[in-house]
Amino acid sequence: PARTRFAPSPTGYLHLGSLRTALFNYLLARRTGGQFLLRIEDTDQKRTVPDAEEKLFKDLRWAGLEWDEGPEVGGPYGPYRQSERTALYQLHAGQLLETGHAYRCFCTQERLQELAEERHKLGLPTDYDRRCFHMSKEESNAKAADAQPHVIRLLSPPKYPSFIDLVYGKVPKGATLKRTVDDAFDDPILLKSDGLPTYHLANVVDDHHMEITHVVRGSEWLIATPKHIAMYEAFGWKPPAFAHVGLLVDEEGNKLSKRKLDIDIASYRDKGVLPDALVNFVALLGWSHNMGKDFCTVERLQELFRPKFTKGNTTVDIRKLWFLQSKHAANITEESGQPFADLVRQVEEVVVKEYNVADRSHTLQDTLLPTYISSILKADARNYSTPEEFVKRVEFFFRPQHYPPIFDGYQKSNVAVDTLASACRQILQASPWTKEGIQKEILTTVAQLEKSIASEASEKHSHRAVSADVHHFLRGVILGGRAGPTVAESMEILGKAFCAARFSEFQA
Ligand code: GLU
Repeated sequence: PARTRFAPSPTGYLHLGSLRTALFNYLLARRTGGQFLLRIEDTDQKRTVPDAEEKLFKDLRWAGLEWDEGPEVGGPYGPYRQSERTALYQLHAGQLLETGHAYRCFCTQERLQELAEERHKLGLPTDYDRRCFHMSKEESNAKAADAQPHVIRLLSPPKYPSFIDLVYGKVPKGATLKRTVDDAFDDPILLKSDGLPTYHLANVVDDHHMEITHVVRGSEWLIATPKHIAMYEAFGWKPPAFAHVGLLVDEEGNKLSKRKLDIDIASYRDKGVLPDALVNFVALLGWSHNMGKDFCTVERLQELFRPKFTKGNTTVDIRKLWFLQSKHAANITEESGQPFADLVRQVEEVVVKEYNVADRSHTLQDTLLPTYISSILKADARNYSTPEEFVKRVEFFFRPQHYPPIFDGYQKSNVAVDTLASACRQILQASPWTKEGIQKEILTTVAQLEKSIASEASEKHSHRAVSADVHHFLRGVILGGRAGPTVAESMEILGKAFCAARFSEFQA
């Protein structure tokens, strides 16, 4: 079983890229019967956004990514906020000092700045020159005892160790990362002068102590991973398996920007995107299953998931989200319970906002709006994208008086209009008044019409042609020619009295 984690810094909100990282970790844990942890990496308090954490929890839960261990739920490896674990990091930095894998650095900001500028001018790497590494142990201890400000640096190995990434294979490829000059050393800071850990130290210490087995994270961290491996080696710990997933890019190959697509997850929710549709969409950004179709329920994703990802960047095509949205909407039935109720409520909100009561009351005298909307959704959810779009599509059902009965001519067979009208009237006798009952009556009508016009024996009067005419006529009269659910479904929803009135209106 895999123990995975999502380790966001509360510096912003959940967006497509971070939701994807969380989801991959979540799916891996679920598929293997392991645990999914949430860890808040808030070591950089200056960058923390006050409400970020709260929003993050809400958005993750909305998407269905419940964590097994983490803030609010607890767990045996807590606390799960790095700001509450400072003592542990200090302890481990001290341990590396003891074993000679780290050293104190008392250089001031000014000195480091000057050093960097000098080297930059010479075209040399701007890394540290290890001046403090050469300080004697006694001097270093004395300065520390004297509370002189200092950081703790990792004594990086001459060559960074390589590791096998699940996506990129051996990293670094071929040669290992090497220094280019002999007096520049990339000795990363582990503990800052205020005693707080850097990302590198806290991340490694926590992944070890929380017994994380797999880390799926963005490829922007790939460059830091050799450092992390060096730290695992210095501690004598076994590193987790790493999978670095590529960037999300738009169709022009640019990193998703805040303006384009990579918006706050909450804004997808506010638009009416279904959580399962978004999860399905995000799962396919850099990962794929072999089912041959994109639609996939969350349950199925949990069964199918393997940590095998596409190498390189992934293009986000937002049209696929809307395609999946309609598939997931069609998959929601009344039996689904809450998801169906949510869908109804969202549509209702739009209807109430868009159409005034006078407009609506025409069809809704005796019908409760949610019940009425439920029946429309049941018939047409396969065409659902957003609540707004859906209401626009089935607008007829909310204000039919704006669409009087019309019959704009024949589709195929040229049955005389009054023949059609009187034949179709008998459909009003359908019993029961259900889509099946109505459909049966429609078929009977088509058959009778065929018989009655058979004498005129023309090829045009094929069954399909007559059937098309009947449906066209009914849609024109009952629905004012508007698209939407099938004619039989629409007639059932609108009710017998309404349909009869439309016939009368047409003939008048
Ligand atoms: N706190 C880091 C971030 O916000 C975590 C990176 C990682 O998963 O190791 O991306």
